[in-house]
Amino acid sequence: MSGPAAFWDSRLEGMFRSAQRVGLFESLGRVYADFPEVTCDNCARCCFESPGVFFVEHLDALRLLSDMPTARREELLRRALRELFFSWIEPDRTCIFLEPSGCAIYERRPLACRLFGVVSHVQRDQAEAEARMAARHEATRLELMGIKVPEAVITRALLSCDRVRDQRGRPVRVDAEAMAARVADLDAALLPREVVLQEFCFHSVGERLGAAAFGQETVHGMRLPLLRRAQSGETMEDLLEEVWQRAGLGDVLQTEVRDR
Ligand code: SF4
Ligand code: SF4
Repeated sequence: MSGPAAFWDSRLEGMFRSAQRVGLFESLGRVYADFPEVTCDNCARCCFESPGVFFVEHLDALRLLSDMPTARREELLRRALRELFFSWIEPDRTCIFLEPSGCAIYERRPLACRLFGVVSHVQRDQAEAEARMAARHEATRLELMGIKVPEAVITRALLSCDRVRDQRGRPVRVDAEAMAARVADLDAALLPREVVLQEFCFHSVGERLGAAAFGQETVHGMRLPLLRRAQSGETMEDLLEEVWQRAGLGDVLQTEVRDR
């Protein structure tokens, strides 16, 4: 396997530059800024997995990573790879950005994180049903290929939370569809709209960051063999180290020089 020429592939690089050129990251910031200021108990239970993201949010996460010191970037990329390859057999995991001190990208956390605890029960129940349906569909597909997906992975709930409050201590409600439509509009500057809607929220930010390092097609060829080997008893840590070394990602991160 030959390693990537840079931390992310050249197709993404072009999209990244386009997003930068037309000010999409600033526009995304303006959508985020329109959320009401809220408080909660900061228990981090809602960070039980990495959030699904729009494409512009994926690029934003790449931008954040590229600005981090190499060791930090490596740590997060390793977590992203673990999520990318093994999330379907690993029920006990958390968002790749969750640290003991809280969210590592709090100021730029994606839309899905901001919507937690502030959408109507109807919207929340619908999102949960859709997420479970998509998970069950993927689990069935994987099981046909010999991968046993634990039930706990499929039923990982979108936990509800009633502890989000505004500055006066009142419950907060945000129109999730309107906010999502604004971010989808930003994606539409880079992708055909049908792709935007198809892609949204199925792949987590961790999976996307991991895939960015290899290219989606390479990942497709790697995932099943790795899952099979993990279910045959090899440790995820050993398998990830093998992937990391073979792709030369350590060298890429060490030598990468970016002009941003
Ligand atoms: S939104 Fe709720 S679950 Fe998430 S950190 Fe705040 S209190 Fe905890
Ligand atoms: S990005 Fe931050 S707020 Fe969102 S799930 Fe991850 S740790 Fe939690």
